Amino acid sequence: MLSYQHIYHAGNLADVQKHALLCHVLDYMTQKDKPLTYIETHAGRGLYDLSSHEAEKTGEAAGGISVLERKLRPSHPYRKRLAEVRARHGASAYPGSPLLAVLSLRPTDQIHLSELHPQEHHGLYLSMADFPVHLYQRDGLQQALALTPPTPRRGVMLIDPSYEIKDDYVTIPKLFAAVGRKWNVGVLMLWYPILTSGAHLEMLATMEENHPDHLRHEVRFPPVREGHRMIGSGMFIVNPPWGTAEAAAEITDLFKKL
Ligand code: SAM
Repeated sequence: MLSYQHIYHAGNLADVQKHALLCHVLDYMTQKDKPLTYIETHAGRGLYDLSSHEAEKTGEAAGGISVLERKLRPSHPYRKRLAEVRARHGASAYPGSPLLAVLSLRPTDQIHLSELHPQEHHGLYLSMADFPVHLYQRDGLQQALALTPPTPRRGVMLIDPSYEIKDDYVTIPKLFAAVGRKWNVGVLMLWYPILTSGAHLEMLATMEENHPDHLRHEVRFPPVREGHRMIGSGMFIVNPPWGTAEAAAEITDLFKKL
């Protein structure tokens, strides 16, 4: 039974790191006039209202994107996408990764989004209504395995689990490696939390062994609430495109301005 709802966390510091890197990668990949495939395994609902009582209850966006957006350079693709989303959906709108992706991609690109939670899936269906995407309500990594290698072969996969099940730290690297074997040219991006318990460390050690060509980027921040176990956010990127290390360094500098 899934209970995680991203509305409580949308626009937090982890989203800023993940979404800024995702926008950079998609911006870079779409500079070439060749179509690509975008696969997302844990899509969420795609569009969030930061004035909702859920978002205001945690105040995570207020300590996240609300603080860092104006410190991002105006030409950053993430900042441009945020402005586009507000122009379409209002001042308190915040895009989830599927919306950032569809706004970054072109009609020739193929987009596949999985979301298991019925309510979140319905929200995703509504937020994607104007876009030609393929939606699935099934386990995202199993769906990714079924879709890979995709056509076109060039492309990006974002894996952004909620890590609600303890076994996720064991099963995710296995499925990630299986996708990597089937799609060895794909840019595979996995988000993970940095936890006081160190529960993420063994997963990362396995991932580093399985995927020699990777970039690992981490930012640290104070816990959002006393006793909260997340003290940072990480992205593990296999086959990082040219310029990703520089884009990641820019995000590191951004977090120094917190
Ligand atoms: N990627 C989104 C973004 O950045 O806007 C946020 C995704 S949220 C962290 C994780 C989502 O995964 C939740 O909406 C949850 O319902 C969904 N989920 C959990 N387990 C799943 C699974 N096995 N397959 C697909 N979706 C799943």
